[in-house]
Amino acid sequence: MNMLEAVADPAVRLTWPNRFRTLGEAFFTALPAESLPDPHWVATSPDCAALLGLPIDWATRPDLNALDVFSGNDDWPGMQPLASVYSGHQFGVWAGQLGDGRALWLGEMNTPAGPMEIQLKGAGRTPYSRMGDGRAVLRSSIREFLGSEAMHGLGIPTTRALCVTGSALPVRRETIETAAVVTRAAPSFIRFGHFEHFAHHAVFEREGHAELRALADFVIAHHYPACRDAANPYVALLEQVTLRSAALMADWQSVGFCHGVMNTDNMSILGLTIDYGPFGFLDQFDPGHICNHSDSQGRYAWARQPNIGFWNLHALAQGLMPLIEDSDLALAALESYKTAFADALLTRWRAKLGLQAREDADRELVDDLLRLMAADRCDFTITFRRLAGFSSAAGAANDAIRDMFVDRAAFDAWAQRYAERLARESSIDANTSTARALRMNRVNPKFILRNHQAEVAIRDAQAGDFTETQRLLKVLQQPFDEQDAAASTAYAGFPPEWAQSIEVSCSS
Ligand code: AMP
Ligand code: MG
Repeated sequence: MNMLEAVADPAVRLTWPNRFRTLGEAFFTALPAESLPDPHWVATSPDCAALLGLPIDWATRPDLNALDVFSGNDDWPGMQPLASVYSGHQFGVWAGQLGDGRALWLGEMNTPAGPMEIQLKGAGRTPYSRMGDGRAVLRSSIREFLGSEAMHGLGIPTTRALCVTGSALPVRRETIETAAVVTRAAPSFIRFGHFEHFAHHAVFEREGHAELRALADFVIAHHYPACRDAANPYVALLEQVTLRSAALMADWQSVGFCHGVMNTDNMSILGLTIDYGPFGFLDQFDPGHICNHSDSQGRYAWARQPNIGFWNLHALAQGLMPLIEDSDLALAALESYKTAFADALLTRWRAKLGLQAREDADRELVDDLLRLMAADRCDFTITFRRLAGFSSAAGAANDAIRDMFVDRAAFDAWAQRYAERLARESSIDANTSTARALRMNRVNPKFILRNHQAEVAIRDAQAGDFTETQRLLKVLQQPFDEQDAAASTAYAGFPPEWAQSIEVSCSS
């Protein structure tokens, strides 16, 4: 009987099916984590722990030894750590084998939410680390932790984060920083780059495509079972991944999220947001905003993300071609992106404007608003949130929203069209407690993870105080709620001047 079966609490009798391991050794190298000296807790996500079915006191129970387990110093029975191998295109260029150089897969755990893979990010070198140290720094680990849990709070598909642990272990980046480990959870961490890896290497070595087929069959069997019955299951898989990716891109655009490094190795086969590096949420609206300081060409600028998502799907299709065989079928599957993305995006914009009916001119109404917001550099989140208070009554001042714009006349002209549009679907109530406002407040968040907020939490954490990280997590888990006055004052206002000078790069 293992330790976890021996404990009285049935909630911690964990079982580990570890299905990814059944793919065989071409897909990974089994190895333990490097130990992290003298670890301490940085942050935990009670919400993620609940998802995994862990008991409330999971982090502090002596019998679970979670601090050491999630720092890489110990393991729970059933965990079978490994590093998986993948390749990818970085900034549009084939980069060959990339990883996984610092994410260690601990295993796949049966949870109330179904099987969930658990990973440590920053647990030391693997055979795929290339020149890297396999470590992650405290700064980027807190950003990933808060970013993924905030994204979940917004209702957007994402990998989850259970906890961050830290250590005094020095890690060299531009300066010397300290090491941290993030524990992440997802139904699967398989990326587009896994498919590209086995497609490329099989062609190169003229070995056939046994591994590629095994990988595709694995993903279909466990994550896209409906594709099995299609005439060509691999085309069906491509189409389903295309649809999920299209929906994800629409989700990102609708909350002003910038991923920052949309390389194909950072694209999830499940359509999850994955690998939070130099990401950011827009403050002032600028469609050309580049959140990654290392992205000098702006390949991954906010407005380009949907096209890059499509580009990345072509790379996936290329990887699947040996199985699909017929390029017309692959192209047809990819083609579904165009309407799926456009429909998904327009649906989200309509919801953000509180519109329930569909009119042909809605796209124009949205585009014109976005154009005004861009011209006046309006705060993306605050502008949409304030829109819930819009009154379509004749002569209504709508000062709270109007004040967001420099060009008041242009806003007034738009507001007139918006009021007429609302009237056409009989949505004429002026009061913020109306059904329309309530609906809008469920899609236009009051709280998002702004760079400067993460920065404050990181500075405190670097000084040994983790309370701000935990406080911010709590706020970001309920981003649509009004919350109390203290949270509103601290987190829902305009960013300070210094927020604009924050630079986030690939270095993590
Ligand atoms: P990223 O651009 O962060 O997605 O990194 C691409 C790949 O490089 C990752 O999947 C890792 O395998 C590898 N990598 C990044 N940083 C490190 C590091 N510090 N040590 C080892 N490998 C790394
Ligand atoms: Mg990555």
